Amino acid sequence: MSSASFDDTLAALREVLGDDGVRVGAAIGERSMTDWTKHAATRPAALLLPRTVEQVARALAICNEARRTVVPQGGMTGLSGGAIPRASDIALSLDRMAGIEEIDTASATMTVLAGTTLQTAQEAALEAGFELALDLGARGSCQIGGNLATNAGGNRVIQSGTAREQILGLEVVLASGAILSSMNKMVKNNTGYDLKHLFIGSEGTLGIITRAVLRLRPRRAARHTVLVAFDAYDKAVELLRRLSAKFGTDVSAFELMWPDFFRLGVSLTSSGRSPFAEAYPLYALVEHASFDAADDGESFAAVLGELLEEGVMLDAVIAQSVGDAEALWAIRECTAEFPVKLDPVNFDVSLPTGALGEFVDRCRVALDEKWPGNVSYFFGHIGDSNLHLTVDGRSVPDVSHHAIYAFVYDMLKPYGGSVSAEHGIGLLKREFLAVSRSPEELAAMIAIKAALDPNGILNPGKVI
Ligand SMILES: Cc1cc2nc3c(=O)[nH]c(=O)nc-3n(C[C@H](O)[C@H](O)[C@H](O)COP(=O)(O)OP(=O)(O)OC[C@H]3O[C@@H](n4cnc5c(N)ncnc54)[C@H](O)[C@@H]3O)c2cc1C
Repeated sequence: MSSASFDDTLAALREVLGDDGVRVGAAIGERSMTDWTKHAATRPAALLLPRTVEQVARALAICNEARRTVVPQGGMTGLSGGAIPRASDIALSLDRMAGIEEIDTASATMTVLAGTTLQTAQEAALEAGFELALDLGARGSCQIGGNLATNAGGNRVIQSGTAREQILGLEVVLASGAILSSMNKMVKNNTGYDLKHLFIGSEGTLGIITRAVLRLRPRRAARHTVLVAFDAYDKAVELLRRLSAKFGTDVSAFELMWPDFFRLGVSLTSSGRSPFAEAYPLYALVEHASFDAADDGESFAAVLGELLEEGVMLDAVIAQSVGDAEALWAIRECTAEFPVKLDPVNFDVSLPTGALGEFVDRCRVALDEKWPGNVSYFFGHIGDSNLHLTVDGRSVPDVSHHAIYAFVYDMLKPYGGSVSAEHGIGLLKREFLAVSRSPEELAAMIAIKAALDPNGILNPGKVI
């Protein structure tokens, strides 16, 4: 182990990154101190801002030699505390490593630097006549590197899968400073272990993602959005199955909202008015996406009309314009305001779709019995078996967030559910990983971590 003092380490890092690539003290802004959870904001010992993969590699080699711990940071929109540094950590931001390097139309791939925002990548794909299937509310700030490090899900998983399924190639810098370049563009490549999958979803604990080859999809030329209402959860599942049987992956989003969430979402929109004249027990925002630009949505509307007559739905409002569709999506995307409007205790659990409605009912009753007066919001991507629950900590001021986590995760156990469907384990769910993973699985994870980062310098205290 090196005996380098922190000042020696900083001097070595400045030599590699230049003076403006290494910040300390008050020069480190609030953005580097915590993620979207606003949990435990802490100024790291230093902030590194590399511009090239070679700089990332040399900086990690220096930190590894000096046994200085490093926290990778992307857009800081994470919801599990994975990018929050401790005071002794060095944060490494990918902000300066942004840009689209290539769009290969023959291979239908896009090569991007990890610091590129998701929205920038989405727009570039559209401009080239393709589509990037990944989409989530934080698109304007989250980065491709962060999306991959968390294996982000989002709104279109029922159509094209999670972030993992949008990736063909990856470049990663290991803790040692070695650059692992697997910038594969081929759909088929069975030469040994597919290493990229180790890093996707590893939340910065195994390596720093610096570049990726993203898979592009044919552009969906027409989108039709509808808000529907149901009297029961089973009806929502029936609608999802019937629409999927009819339209396959043209059903590109199916976002369920229980009434508490729906009312809050509506109240946070600019109009503040519900699209429905009356209140219902359950709502879903459904999107149909067609490759055919001439598809005016009539066939989709006709099927919805039949299902309405059959009583699968109670009511439906079809967006007539892009503006209408955006207004409907604004209800679902009110979650962006949670950190300022609430004291959110966020859950992103998954459990079998068939059991999800019952779980919500039982969870609500149990929360009310345990903490009368609690205010909780249920919503989710039910086609992906993914339920979100946000408890407003302000409604139970004497209860710790930890107690709420423990209570809800305990309820998940009989369902074989997962404590994280898409946001990752990070800092906040680390203690609960064993709810969803066996001792043997945990031992294998620890062995992989030890093999790739033997000195434990990458994102310590996160995930495992
Ligand atoms: C309004 C809103 C809506 C959201 N909706 C969704 C949703 O629908 N689905 C979903 O899955 N998530 C959602 N999220 C959560 C969040 O946007 C995602 O987790 C996103 O993928 C995080 O990207 P980021 O760049 O902000 O990562 P950060 O928050 O900066 O970091 C997240 C984790 O990744 C690591 N990391 C970041 N960059 C790198 C890198 N280059 N190499 C290695 N590790 C890295 C960090 O150390 C940390 O552990 C939402 C968040 C908000 C605020």
